[in-house]
Amino acid sequence: MSDRAQEIYDVVGIGFGPSNLSLAIALEESRGDDPRGGTSALFLERQPSFGWHRNMLLPSATMQISFLKDLATFRNPTSSFSFVAYLHASGRLPRFVNNQDFFPTRQEFHQYLEWAQARVADRVEYGTEVTSIRLPPGTGPERADRLRLRVTDADGRTGRVIEARNVVISTGLVPSLPDGVERDERVWHSSEFLERYRRTNPAELRRVAVVGAGQSAAEITRFLYDELPHAQVWSVIPSYGYVAADDTPFANQIFDPGAVDDYYFGSEQSRGAFWRYHRNTNYSVVDDDVIRDLYRRAYDEDVRGENRLRFLNLTRVTGVKRAGAETRVTLQAGPGGEVRELDFDALVCATGYDAMEPAGLLGDLDRHCLRDESGRYQVERDYRIATAPAMRCGLYLQGGTEHTHGLTSSLLSNIAVRSGEIADSITARRAAAEPGGAVPAEAAAPAAGAGKDTVR
Ligand SMILES: Cc1cc2nc3c(=O)[nH]c(=O)nc-3n(C[C@H](O)[C@H](O)[C@H](O)COP(=O)(O)OP(=O)(O)OC[C@H]3O[C@@H](n4cnc5c(N)ncnc54)[C@H](O)[C@@H]3O)c2cc1C
Repeated sequence: MSDRAQEIYDVVGIGFGPSNLSLAIALEESRGDDPRGGTSALFLERQPSFGWHRNMLLPSATMQISFLKDLATFRNPTSSFSFVAYLHASGRLPRFVNNQDFFPTRQEFHQYLEWAQARVADRVEYGTEVTSIRLPPGTGPERADRLRLRVTDADGRTGRVIEARNVVISTGLVPSLPDGVERDERVWHSSEFLERYRRTNPAELRRVAVVGAGQSAAEITRFLYDELPHAQVWSVIPSYGYVAADDTPFANQIFDPGAVDDYYFGSEQSRGAFWRYHRNTNYSVVDDDVIRDLYRRAYDEDVRGENRLRFLNLTRVTGVKRAGAETRVTLQAGPGGEVRELDFDALVCATGYDAMEPAGLLGDLDRHCLRDESGRYQVERDYRIATAPAMRCGLYLQGGTEHTHGLTSSLLSNIAVRSGEIADSITARRAAAEPGGAVPAEAAAPAAGAGKDTVR
């Protein structure tokens, strides 16, 4: 791989899911206001084409946010990249309105995202994975005005080097499995569900289990029950029953753009209150209609005297063994409770995700990123990681900022506004760096809400 940098951009985005797609749009829309004619940008995505949680595009699954929380509207209500603009372009606007539903299917939202990405596709490289971000050789952080990225093609062999004045990391959540469980051809994480399911002969799936009590778990349970009329479907949940997501209006305010300031500039105590009182808006909860759908199926079975849909509540998976074609699952009912083993033809772990973690990409550069007393990144209000003060190049996060910016960090709710804030920050810092430019307030001020600085 050549070390010679051939390309330099104002911004390189790592990952091209909805967050960085929204940033590409914000940069595109700010082009007209920029005397320099815009910010040069490139987005790198390892998937071969655009895809947003493709393996969970189950036929009846709906969005968990209003269609108005799209890629642009909350930042620019007149944007030509809005969901309404997409409906208009696809000739469905009147019928969508007749439907009187704020929550489109995930499949329709995916079509919208694909339509939007096609309009900025000249700034995106698919099938390209970023493997590291470093300072250019021979440059210390005190002088660094650019970062060097190593990228490889899908085959992992062909590589090149790209330089960027700013890097926006948006690599998404990381699938998480129960301790001691590893994926194989019949043990799947929900993030690979449809792909795995389609590769399997349905006739071979006579007894399947779904682990987890969140939205994906309930949706997959419902899907398997409907798709496999010959199969037993077991739902293994750690709670007594699925818990409903709170999407009532007052609680929903925690996803408003203004809630980011309340969280960011709030006290430790007020940040704790966000999580204590409002975790049930998003984590380990299920939409009310999906819960009722499943309960209705279980009740109808009772009426018919069938027992295909089974719930193992207060139960956790503690191990999985392969026994020939069978997947032998160890289940424990409560701590110290009864342990038993059951055989399944497939086990689906809808056991959630860990937060985005950029440290692996940053490698040695991570030492120059400031951490708080709990070892978490200090992040400025404009989503820039706080670094050694003289470092002029910027590292921004879209995701992984729950501890500084609150619950919207890994969600779609605030991406339009967040992307606009990041685009504005990059533009303002670039203007400040030009001769006679003023230093933006964020650049001079220490990271608000941050604890004692620690550099690792
Ligand atoms: C099934 C499901 C449904 C959801 N529904 C909703 C919803 O209705 N509302 C809501 O608010 N949130 C929802 N979420 C939360 C979800 O996090 C967001 O919808 C959204 O995916 C966040 O977008 P993102 O761009 O930050 O991350 P992602 O969509 O995860 O995109 C990250 C991208 O980065 C790429 N990537 C990773 N590493 C590299 C690398 N090194 N180099 C190049 N590319 C890389 C990945 O391939 C991926 O395409 C849902 C999550 C799931 C799993």
